[in-house]
Amino acid sequence: MLKKIFLLLFITANLLACAQKADDIINVNEVRRIESVLASDEMRGRRAGTPDIDRAAAFIAEEFRKAGLQPFAGNTFLQQFSMLRPKLTELKYKAEDADVDSKNIIIVTSQPELNVDEKSGYEVVKINAGENLNQRARALVSSKKNVIAFVDTSFAMGFSRLGGLKRSIFKSDHSTIFILGSQPKSFKIKASHTFDETKYTNVVGVLPGKSKKNEYVIFSGHYDHLGVRSQPNSTDSIFNGANDDAAGTTAVIMLANYYKRLNNNERTLAFSAFTAEEVGGYGSQYFSQQFNPNEVTAMFNIEMIGTESKWGKNSAYITGYEKTNMGEILQSNLKGTSFTFYPDPYTQQNLFYRSDNATLARLGVPAHTISTSKMDNEPNYHKASDEISTLDMDNMAQIIKAIAESSKTIISGKDTPTRVKAEDLR
Ligand SMILES: [Zn+2]
Repeated sequence: MLKKIFLLLFITANLLACAQKADDIINVNEVRRIESVLASDEMRGRRAGTPDIDRAAAFIAEEFRKAGLQPFAGNTFLQQFSMLRPKLTELKYKAEDADVDSKNIIIVTSQPELNVDEKSGYEVVKINAGENLNQRARALVSSKKNVIAFVDTSFAMGFSRLGGLKRSIFKSDHSTIFILGSQPKSFKIKASHTFDETKYTNVVGVLPGKSKKNEYVIFSGHYDHLGVRSQPNSTDSIFNGANDDAAGTTAVIMLANYYKRLNNNERTLAFSAFTAEEVGGYGSQYFSQQFNPNEVTAMFNIEMIGTESKWGKNSAYITGYEKTNMGEILQSNLKGTSFTFYPDPYTQQNLFYRSDNATLARLGVPAHTISTSKMDNEPNYHKASDEISTLDMDNMAQIIKAIAESSKTIISGKDTPTRVKAEDLR
């Protein structure tokens, strides 16, 4: 009996210690401290591609360093990349020595001068009638190969829309050429482009796993927002983005501190603050490309958790809930608490496809976004009034604690969520 009581005391003490640890690290003062920096007027709305956002990046990197994370690659927490906006200045296409209308050719390239013929070593593929042109084209552009795709003439009407793929591109050594029509015996392509280049920075840190080093669990949120915009009849032109998404970034920083303190993660944890969500999602796309998707066990993307959800306090929703069993795992780890994760009630808004989880989800990763944003009634959404004063920081701390608690069996390797069936996605 005495033994049992001791055991009970021991377990209770352990549970209390754990809860205390969470309260030590994840609390309203810490939420306020981080939010006050990220959402301050000094950050000028953290617009991607401006010097303003670099101050936010430096702050987050310093938080990761203090937390004790390691860089993801190299010796910096700053993951830099460039996007190019190409402008076509010259284009010639000859098929068997006859000039072809340049409307029938679309080139996605980072090379200022491109000269290609049938002997250039490009992989040649066909996109046949009845295929999903857009999906195939996207896959080819991101395939990291030099490819020429001959596109069936049944796509003549929609062919020019492929031009959307070259509006803004990652700097790459590989080119993709789309040609409407069948493959001629010989051809010559000459293209010249100039480029506007913009540099972007994600902030990424990791906690290596104790045993399952090549199984990644990702925690992320975007730290960019809309910047400064002149407002009619208003003095406040700074879009602070306290909720969108300084809130998610705050959660990522606090979770990094929490797991480092626990120091018992069997899987490797990656923490990322994404840039450029608001201008096209480039940050999460670039970040996602650095992984083998088969090595990513789960992704918790956190987006706008600063207001109460439509169900009130102590609740949040998960986008794409039914696409994996990750939501069920999280919910079962919260048994006995007052916190509830619900399926996304705003499915008509396609949040699952629109947010930073989408790239990895399309590759099969159980990658979901956790949010409380009332998408039908969030008065400060994408307004200059998205300020710290509108946040419920106590509730935020509870949500971040719930994420910490609910993820524990995924982090320990006990639970592995089912994969997204990519072929079922839109
Ligand atoms: Zn956002």
